[in-house]
Formats: sequence, C-alpha cells, structure tokens
Amino acid sequence: MEITRRGFFKASALAFAGSMAYELSGQSKAFAIDTQKTWKLENTEEVTTICCYCACGCGLIGSVRDGELVHVEGDPDHFVSEGGLCPKGAAEFHAEYIVNPETGALEENPARVTTPKVRRPGSAEWEDISWDDAIEEIARHMKDTRDATFKETNDKGETINRTEAIACLGGSSMTIEEEYFIVKLFRELGAVSLDNQARV
Ligand code: SF4
Repeated sequence: MEITRRGFFKASALAFAGSMAYELSGQSKAFAIDTQKTWKLENTEEVTTICCYCACGCGLIGSVRDGELVHVEGDPDHFVSEGGLCPKGAAEFHAEYIVNPETGALEENPARVTTPKVRRPGSAEWEDISWDDAIEEIARHMKDTRDATFKETNDKGETINRTEAIACLGGSSMTIEEEYFIVKLFRELGAVSLDNQARV
C-alpha cells in the first residue's frame, strides 16, 4: 500500500486523538490515580500578614487548617511586593515548622521564640517572662528614665520639654496606624529620637 504524505499526517492525527480520548475517558490507571490527590490547601482559611525578616515588609498569605499553619505564600494583592518574595520570605513557613532531616516529617521549630524574654543586669542568661510582666517592667523603666532625664528648658532658659534618654525604632511588621500611635506616644513622652527600620 502506498502511503502519501497527506495520508500519513491524517493517520497520525487520528492515532493521537484516539489515545487522548482513551486517557481522558478515565480508563488509564495512572491518570485515575493522579486525579485522586487532595489539594494541599483544601479546607483552609487564609490570613494575611507581613514578612518578619527585613524592612521591605512584603505581604504574605498564610493558609490555616484547624488552627494550624499549613502553607505560606506571597500576597499578590499586597501593594509592596505584589506576590513576590525573596528566598528568606519564601521560606517563612519554616519559622513555624522544620523538616526533621532523619524522618522527613514536619515538626514544630524548636528554635522559635514564643514568649518575651529578659536578660537581667549582670546576667548572661535570657529568662522567659509573661507578656503582662514584660509590659509592666518596660512601662516602669520608661517612666523612671523619663522622670530622671526630662528637661523643661535648655542652658539659655528656652523651653524644650524633652528627654534625650529614650529613643524609638519602629519595625516593618507594624502597620501605618500602629506607627502613628507609637509616634504620638513617644512625642508625648518628650522623646526626640524616632526612626523606623522600614525607612529604606
Ligand atoms: S520577603 Fe525578603 S525582601 Fe520581603 S520582607 Fe521578607 S526578607 Fe525582606
């Protein structure tokens, strides 16, 4: 039988179409097994947050199932990063979980700091402290420092009403609204040294 060029292409197209129809009909075992995989983010709730690692403040979406974080990715709606993340931010999930190198299982990151800590004067050790105690101690130190260093006038008798002993450094994880209130608080205290690490 003579095979023409046109005939050859026609036969090839028919063979390809037949093979695809067979795959898509669900007869193929491999195809059926492949489609049985569950979607990683099934039954999760999305929460938005900000990367904790640097001053850029890139936006993240965390997927949470039953109160547990299961996935982290860039937030395409975030005005800073539009979904992009550097390698550190892309690995943010591992601030919470690490992969056990021996078993390959996900485990809570043992290095994660989950409570405030304090290092007392003269001590080389960090101690855990409750949030209530931490806030109480910080407030007490700030009040004592302000009382001891507040100046109403300078050497020429001019009104200055300030302390140079307290400074404030904001962070990129804070929102504009939080920063607004922090600046107000420190200005009220008389602090003149205010800055933000996100000023890049
Ligand atoms: S993703 Fe990278 S660039 Fe963006 S805030 Fe995190 S560490 Fe900084």
